Amino acid sequence: MIDVIIIGAGPAGLAAAIYVERSGKQAVLLEAGSFGGQIVNTLEIENYPGIKKISGFDFAMSLYEQATGLGAEIKYEKADKIEDKGEYKTVYTASGASYDAQAVIIATGAKNRHLLLDKEEEFTGKGISYCATCDGAFFKGMDVAVNGGGNTAIEDALFLSNYCSKVYVIHRREEFRGDKASLELLKSKENVSFVLNSNIIEILGEDRLSGIRVKNNKTDEEKVIEISGLFIAIGQEPDNKGFINVADINEAGYIIATEDLKTRTPGIFTAGDCRIKEVRQLATAVSDGAVAGLKACQFIK
Ligand code: NAP
Repeated sequence: MIDVIIIGAGPAGLAAAIYVERSGKQAVLLEAGSFGGQIVNTLEIENYPGIKKISGFDFAMSLYEQATGLGAEIKYEKADKIEDKGEYKTVYTASGASYDAQAVIIATGAKNRHLLLDKEEEFTGKGISYCATCDGAFFKGMDVAVNGGGNTAIEDALFLSNYCSKVYVIHRREEFRGDKASLELLKSKENVSFVLNSNIIEILGEDRLSGIRVKNNKTDEEKVIEISGLFIAIGQEPDNKGFINVADINEAGYIIATEDLKTRTPGIFTAGDCRIKEVRQLATAVSDGAVAGLKACQFIK
């Protein structure tokens, strides 16, 4: 019987593990990919209180070393389902394993949203990317496009404008959600061109991406933009479908929780980007982890 199983080893899950271990309880993390979550793809973090500047990778590595150094264990398995068995919970994984725990924290984060266009999957890694900081350098001196109007799209476009000949920013509206100061900086870049009120309607290319067809949603005018790279930054979506038997989930798929991060099932908690919240930031994910970790330990007592 494990004390606390934490599903997801991103910042929220790793922070929860630190608090569980420091409360004298045992934390086992189940991670479907690699530890660190989305922050690994962030080039530089400059808004985490107390740390002026750190790379996303270094931050994730430091969290990982802190959690495992305290005794937390990570199993690289995808958790599919949780069953509430009253006195304890059983977590089932895609590999056919199952683990019993007194408490569970769901910290599955969110994944990049896809456009769901033909050739999008086929050309991922062949011109299409969801991570400018990971793949941007491959497009040095080339023409690229970024799709989206949030902070990720703005930051991606700013980053790419340093390497690429031309950066098209394609956004379905005129107004951007992202930070105004960053947007103004982006507007000042000579090699950045805005394609607003427009959606990508077709991905073009034979063996790899060679362009996109965009449609202006006000005028219905269509045009082809020739590019070597397309960075899709249209937000994230959670994947909590496997947990609807134990947790309430809203229409967008996010887990509904109380202020102290309890789901509707006693002993099952949630933390980080997978839950309903106004602000999805590194600081708030880590804060959730601390709350969920401590509440899970209190539940066990
Ligand atoms: P986001 O804020 O949800 O923005 C997603 C953007 O994609 C929106 O502009 C949205 O358009 C557009 N979009 C959504 N679905 C689309 C579709 N199917 N087709 C075309 N466009 C679509 O996502 P994000 O930029 O990834 O940011 C996520 C969170 O992380 C935010 O809270 C953000 O502030 C935060 N973040 C913070 C930093 C930082 O502080 N340095 C950096 C990156 C991200 P509409 O505007 O029309 O809805």
